[in-house]
Order: sequence, then C-alpha cells, then structure tokens
Amino acid sequence: METVAVARNAMATRFEIVLHGENAVALRAAGEEALDEIEQIESRLSLYRPTSETARVNADASRGTVRVSPSVFNLLERARNLSEATSGAFDITIAPLVRCWGFMGGTGQMPQPDEVAEARARVGMSLVVLDPANHTVHFRRDGVMIDLGAIGKGFALERAAELLRDAGVTSALLNAGTSTAFAIGHPPGEEHWKVAIQAPPTPGIGEGRSIVATVPLRDEAMSVSAVWGRAFESGGKRFGHVLDPRTGQPVRGVLLSAVALPSATETDALSTALLVLGDAGREVLARPRPGLRALVLTEDESPRGFRVATNGIASST
Ligand code: AMP
Ligand code: MG
Repeated sequence: METVAVARNAMATRFEIVLHGENAVALRAAGEEALDEIEQIESRLSLYRPTSETARVNADASRGTVRVSPSVFNLLERARNLSEATSGAFDITIAPLVRCWGFMGGTGQMPQPDEVAEARARVGMSLVVLDPANHTVHFRRDGVMIDLGAIGKGFALERAAELLRDAGVTSALLNAGTSTAFAIGHPPGEEHWKVAIQAPPTPGIGEGRSIVATVPLRDEAMSVSAVWGRAFESGGKRFGHVLDPRTGQPVRGVLLSAVALPSATETDALSTALLVLGDAGREVLARPRPGLRALVLTEDESPRGFRVATNGIASST
C-alpha cells in the first residue's frame, strides 16, 4: 500500500490531499488533476479576479443579464436553495456588507451606521433573478454583488473528490485549510478518517489550542466556520468576517460551528449558516437532514470561555 500527499495554495488557503492505494504514480497524477480542478474553480469563482464569472456577474448583472457556465449556474441555484433552507442565514448576496465591514480583501473595520443600512438594502436573494433556460443572472437593483466565499471551498473539494473517485481512488482525505475536509473511504487498517476541530485561541495562552472534538468521517465532508479566522477588535469586542444578513452585523456570541454531511458544498454553506443561527440552528438544520452532525461553540463566562453543544459529535472537552 502506497501513500501520496499533494498540496497547492488556492482560494487564499492551502488545499492538501492524502491518498492511499496500490500505485503511487497513479495516485499522484490523480491528486494533481484534482488540484488543477480546484484552481480552475477558483479562477471561475474568485471575487478578486476580474476575469472570473463572479466578477463578471458583479460588474454587469445590475445593468442586464450575464450568462454563466452551467456549473456556476448550478452552484448559484444550490446557493439559493441553501439560503432558503437556512432562513436567509447563508446568503451569497452578503458581499455589500462584507465590503462595508472592510472584509473584502481586508482585515475588517468599523463602518458608519448609514453605510450598514445602505449595504443591507442591497443584500437578499430576492434581488437575484436566475434564468435556468439561459443560464443567466440578473440583479434587480444596482450595487448588488455576490460572494461565494462561504461555499466555494466546499464546492471545489466536492468536485475534486468526484475526479478522484472517477480515477478509481478509494481512500483519500482532502482538506481546504481548516475550513473543509472531505473523506473518501477510510485509511488502510482503520474504519474512518479522523478530523480534529480546534478550540479558539485562548487569550494569554498563545497559539496553543486544545481539541474540541475529533470527528470520524467516511465518504463524508465536514466544514468549520469560526469568528477568529478573520476579525478585528474595537472597544474590547471582536468583530469577525461572518455577517448576519438579517441584521447587517458580524456574528456575536458564537465562536465556532461545524457541520458534517456527504456533500462538501452543503457543509460549507451550512457551517457558515450555523455560525449565524447559533445553537438554535442545530435543530433547524438537522430536522430535514437526519444524518447531519453538528457542533456549536457558544461564548460564555466559564474559564475556557465557551460551552459546546453537538448533534452526534462526541466532544473531547
Ligand atoms: P466560511 O469561512 O465558509 O464560513 O465563509 C465566510 C466568508 O463568507 C466570509 O469571509 C464572507 O466572504 C462570506 N460571508 C460572510 N457572512 C456570510 C453569510 N451570512 N452568508 C454567506 N456568506 C457569508
Ligand atoms: Mg462556509
């Protein structure tokens, strides 16, 4: 049995794939092909590349209709459905708020209240018209923008895993930084891949972090969303990059969320939604998805600073 590891930087994170199988040359070729696909997807989805489909939509969809590729159109439809399934907590039209809070290419800054109100008026999936017959996108007003940052890494991993399976790979773990992991099969001699969820950095203790849970995955994805990944401090409070579309404010009180399901596109979107919805969101997401596992860290006054609630995930703290 051979083990091969490949990695590449894309989507502002590091994608890593570990593969097990009989033929190292074939495993490496499959891994590199999967990474090529991830780069391809980045070039289509990135908000920051002027030639991406996202950038074209953002530049022109308020003035007319913009035709996108079938795969991007399909992703936009899935994003709309996930928005409905999360009562709008996950919303790819969040971009005007992301920009207003200084998180578009930046590390965040406090906006003026009227800037937040102006941005909020441009957020909502009802402002987006998707035409399935022509694969076109239209925005109902000026200033609407989409940001696939909360779903793109999961989508890319899902596609990469499909390619690996098509290439005959039966045992691999793919991950996009600490954001999303996708498990194909299981490692040799073990029942599952095991993916750890790290606790938030504890103030004063430095970067050393404890493990909140170790999650067994087999033909399943898990995504983690967290406030401290990109955040700024103001007036002793921390403001992170995940925003509540309903209030226009950064998520508060919830430090981390995780969701495990077979689809990485869904786990990515739903972990972001769960951070917005907080603990009550576990029930909202799990009711229509019996197999869903989830974890939420909510800030509290205890010495470690949070409490853990889970659906089907054994907490290790
Ligand atoms: P994630 O790390 O997957 O939770 O995605 C967070 C990123 O998605 C942020 O950096 C924003 O670009 C974008 N985002 C922030 N809030 C939301 C939201 N409520 N719905 C969808 N995308 C969001
Ligand atoms: Mg996400």
